Amino acid sequence: MADSRGMGIEHSLEEILDEAVNNGRKMTALGKTATYIPELGRVNKDYLGVCICTEDGRYHVSGDTDIRFTIQSISKVISLAAALEQCGFEKTFDRVGMEPSGDSFDSLVRLDLASDHPSNPMINSGAIAIASHLSCEVSFEWMLALTRRLCMDEEITLDEKVYHSEMGHISRNKAIAYLLESKGILENNVEESLDLYVRMCSLGVTARSLAGFGLILASDGINPLTGERLLHSKVVQTVKAIMLTCGMYDGSGRFAVEVGVPSKSGVGGGILSVVDKRMGIGIFGPALDAKGNSIAGQHVLRELSSRMRLHMFADNVPEY
Ligand code: GLU
Repeated sequence: MADSRGMGIEHSLEEILDEAVNNGRKMTALGKTATYIPELGRVNKDYLGVCICTEDGRYHVSGDTDIRFTIQSISKVISLAAALEQCGFEKTFDRVGMEPSGDSFDSLVRLDLASDHPSNPMINSGAIAIASHLSCEVSFEWMLALTRRLCMDEEITLDEKVYHSEMGHISRNKAIAYLLESKGILENNVEESLDLYVRMCSLGVTARSLAGFGLILASDGINPLTGERLLHSKVVQTVKAIMLTCGMYDGSGRFAVEVGVPSKSGVGGGILSVVDKRMGIGIFGPALDAKGNSIAGQHVLRELSSRMRLHMFADNVPEY
């Protein structure tokens, strides 16, 4: 592969990943784990791992890619896809918008004062509304089975410790859920809506699982290894568009400019990224910036995007 700086140096994918992880490790000291869920605060913030799953189904890894961590907000992508599949477009977007909010992920302000529905499905209010909807149609076990298939990882289970830790510190999400209920947006009661929402956030994944899911989204919803279609094309297209505009909390605009790859982060330190028709990328780096995004993970993605020309508007995409 030609070096993107035009120096003609040959680098293997593994070398590029190792260099990006080594550079990213310098950033972990600048971030903090998410202590508002106490169990997440106990995770070693120096972990950093990146995994790429290329279109031939091969995994390329560097760093801490086999450590399990909770998927947190990345589950919002799975729940949105499931809602679109199960309830259809009209019903799903009847109560949740598709516009970036520009507010923090757990904000109630706009919902209370300026809107009759959550801005989008990637913030807590939107995802709780979607979970409420879904909880009337499918069980948690059904959602777990879907997650395993989408991530190509049968070992995904509920992390009971994180689930109970979040349920014990649920006041803010409860406030959001009651506000949604007062506006007639919840389909189910507050308890059942929140239970499915928190269970989905508490699924234990690895950077590898996220890379597998990214590849399925990059491949139009088809598992390229088996040829099985897991999601409809229109659902995948919608989910990727919303990831690009709303997936990195209120840092989504800058991230789209700098990295240019539809992504979704979670406060567990994960980032899921989709490079259309080429690869899925999974990151684990639990030290977060002030907006709740993995600080080292974003650093790694900026470097990978520039060296491998991953930006969706980059020209001259090289062959690997
Ligand atoms: N379970 C977390 C919450 O509801 C998810 C937040 C996130 O990852 O953005 O606060």
